[in-house]
Amino acid sequence: MNILTFDVEEWYNCDFISENFNWNNYEVRIYEGVGRILDELAKHEIKGTFFCLGWLAENHPSIIKRIHDEGHQVGCHSYQHQLSTRFSPDSFRADTYKAKSLIEDVIGDGIECFRAPGFSITHKNLWAFDVLHELGFKYDCSIFPAHHDYGGMPDYGSSEPAILLQNGYEIKEFPINIHRLFCKNLVFSGGGFFRLFPYWLIKKWGKETPYMMTYFHPRDFDSDQPVIKELPKVRKFKSYVGLKHSFVKFQKILADFDFVNVAQANDVIDWSSAKRINL
Ligand SMILES: [Zn+2]
Repeated sequence: MNILTFDVEEWYNCDFISENFNWNNYEVRIYEGVGRILDELAKHEIKGTFFCLGWLAENHPSIIKRIHDEGHQVGCHSYQHQLSTRFSPDSFRADTYKAKSLIEDVIGDGIECFRAPGFSITHKNLWAFDVLHELGFKYDCSIFPAHHDYGGMPDYGSSEPAILLQNGYEIKEFPINIHRLFCKNLVFSGGGFFRLFPYWLIKKWGKETPYMMTYFHPRDFDSDQPVIKELPKVRKFKSYVGLKHSFVKFQKILADFDFVNVAQANDVIDWSSAKRINL
């Protein structure tokens, strides 16, 4: 099963931008970035899941509306891209409620799917699931089932959809999929590693895994985006490597694989045989 998801955020939406960074001072590239993706999906008649920032729904509602109008699933990716681990339960609830409400007002529909920025739900903030459940979310895509800069969750086990059994409720988890290479945990289905590795290798790894969860961003395909000079060297490399050819790779992956979005995946998965996890 291959699931197509996007994190809808601007070219500067990295978790390391300072708190007083004024988003309104920066070039708007989201219309072009999302438009490029939507046009390509329309050609292939594929529907994706788009995790959107509440800030975008507030400031650029038409792009969120276009995603919904074209039949894609809209999810929530926080209000302003703060890592979930930086919140207390109360401030996480306020942030997520605000983002969810803003997005729902724009699309005129409820949303049930969440992804934390930077896959930042870990053992340190499992209360995030309580909040998501309280706010009506049914699906989460925030788990990184291995060690990660922001924590990760190595004891989740193999990357596959599962039912999380939390404090008396259930939430369906669609984690990212990991590829082990030279003792490193790589995510090749989006972001820097998708841009870095040659397409034949991405295709090989994608065909080998029974479950692929992609996580593309509009900036992954935007070779004209401004460069953020302040980024640390390694981060800079990861952010801008392979931008020239990444959209061609994206076109190829859409042609070579069958994709569904999270809602469609939920409909075809036999949940009675899915693993059930108490984190
Ligand atoms: Zn993000």
